[in-house]
Amino acid sequence: MKKSPNNSELTAISIFGVSKKFENGFVALRDINLDIASGSFVVILGPSGAGKSTLLRCVNGLEKPSTGEVKVESKLVTRQSLQTIRRNVAMIFQRFNLVERLNVMSNVLCGRLGKRSTLGSLLYLMRQDDMTIANAALDRVGLLSRAWERADKLSGGEQQRIGIARALAQEPKVLLADEPVASLDPTTGEEIMTLLREIQLEGSLTLLVSLHQVEFARKYAERIVGLREGKIVFDGPPSALDDVALQAIYGRPPNDEKFVSKHEDSIV
Ligand code: ADP
Repeated sequence: MKKSPNNSELTAISIFGVSKKFENGFVALRDINLDIASGSFVVILGPSGAGKSTLLRCVNGLEKPSTGEVKVESKLVTRQSLQTIRRNVAMIFQRFNLVERLNVMSNVLCGRLGKRSTLGSLLYLMRQDDMTIANAALDRVGLLSRAWERADKLSGGEQQRIGIARALAQEPKVLLADEPVASLDPTTGEEIMTLLREIQLEGSLTLLVSLHQVEFARKYAERIVGLREGKIVFDGPPSALDDVALQAIYGRPPNDEKFVSKHEDSIV
């Protein structure tokens, strides 16, 4: 196998020659090579099934690449390094992945578990500084006053804010967001994207977000990586995302009205 290039200090995520073939033989990722600069806001854009989620899952070790390697903050993602990796990498999910019957605060405190010893985590021993950090995270997403309500009593947008607060409580360097607005209405989606961008700028975090909505990618990303059938078919700034690029990503013939109406949700 080829050797991965040396990571520069300015590279937060380095993906080198990554392919993923699932047990059923389906190939979801094909020779992905990608360096993500520290402190950047990068959107992985592509239609459903393009491999976006699989790619993000390879970054935090939820999936193991069949070939190739991933480094986060210069550390190789392996089974052995997972604990260290997950201290630096937080993930936000499309369907929030909250413990719905727990209150908001408990969900946010879950973000602290990775910082504790195994025994401490098992006994759910939280320290005062965990509470301080969780309080600050909830305050940041505007939900401090709802801390003691059951998570499932809150709206979808609010539940995603809990997911963001839980991620912030991890004090990550890298934030992964897998279709964070796909379950939300457009206005709430805008609010969540704006919040993510503000948080990324405030903390100089590296933010890697998968999206299928072109307009959100255009509006928020510094860099867009277009994925189709597991391959990178576009990589550039939002200003370069023209009809040719969209066709490469979505198979959309430029100015094809029928295509636009059929894919309104993704192309809006
Ligand atoms: P996206 O996030 O772009 O919608 P995914 O990464 O979720 O795409 O999935 C890419 C492709 O891989 C899809 O066709 C999906 O059905 C397939 N896939 C995902 N997980 C598995 C799995 N565990 N086994 C087999 N195929 C899978």
